[in-house]
Amino acid sequence: MLLRIILVSVFFYLLFRFLRLLFIKPPVNKSPTQKNTSGLVSEMVQDPVCKIYIPKNNSLSIQISGATYYFCSRACMDKFKP
Ligand SMILES: [Zn+2]
Repeated sequence: MLLRIILVSVFFYLLFRFLRLLFIKPPVNKSPTQKNTSGLVSEMVQDPVCKIYIPKNNSLSIQISGATYYFCSRACMDKFKP
């Protein structure tokens, strides 16, 4: 009698595991670009004109001969450009 109960419980346990495998899919990554801008603290970059540090996300950037420069404002960017 007791053995029968154990066998039935094991059967239902295995059935449950099997159904979980069928119905539960692995979590899908939701747009990785959004995750980067919202959650994480962004890298700090230095403005070469006024020497302050600003978050990369909030900075203005230009590329000159392969190197990227970051600025706190358009005014600084204009000063830097030749
Ligand atoms: Zn600046």
